[in-house]
Amino acid sequence: MVTVWWAYATAIRSGILLESERMRVARFVKQSDRELHATSYFLRRVVLAHKTSRRAECIRFASQCPGCGSAEHGPPRLFPSDDGGVRFSVSHSGNVALVAVARGIDLAVDIEHAATRSAWNEIGSRVAHPRDNVSVSGVERWTAKEAALKLTGFGLTIPMTKVVIERTAGRTGRTGRTHINYRGRQFAAWITWFDVDASFKGAVASSIPSDLTVVKVTL
Ligand SMILES: [Zn+2]
Repeated sequence: MVTVWWAYATAIRSGILLESERMRVARFVKQSDRELHATSYFLRRVVLAHKTSRRAECIRFASQCPGCGSAEHGPPRLFPSDDGGVRFSVSHSGNVALVAVARGIDLAVDIEHAATRSAWNEIGSRVAHPRDNVSVSGVERWTAKEAALKLTGFGLTIPMTKVVIERTAGRTGRTGRTHINYRGRQFAAWITWFDVDASFKGAVASSIPSDLTVVKVTL
């Protein structure tokens, strides 16, 4: 089971943030960007504390690049790793911050503001693969590809046009599969699309198929 926890960024909450996180927040010029990033860090700590029984201010992260092994980049993981296999991924867009969490499942999430359909159809067409399932919308295409690339650990260093989206005959029509064949390496992911209120659409890419629950958090 994957749970997506999301919140509106409405204020800068910094009580449980590390000094390094507060400094990163302070570097943003716009108040709305500071609120969004502070909320993202805050939400990640609160949710991971809840899932791991650690104190929110004691949560630590480590990165490791799957390509070069560097600890300076690559997707963040809990440090030390959690005995219960807790994995997470964060994304934000507009004034919405979210964290997706699961146990024993590698996952990655993307959320986008889905304002106008025509704009997203244009954006989606730029990242299309000839074998993409034709029933996906522009914003579905983008979120699935971004989540699938995040899941590889290489992120956008692999072009989005390398990701092929297949939609399965899922019960809800809201699940799909992606395949990436890039420089001799193969990556596959399961995709679940979801909505956050009326204006934001997201996708979770996971290593195995999983149910998904979306929970609004009021901070
Ligand atoms: Zn690297």
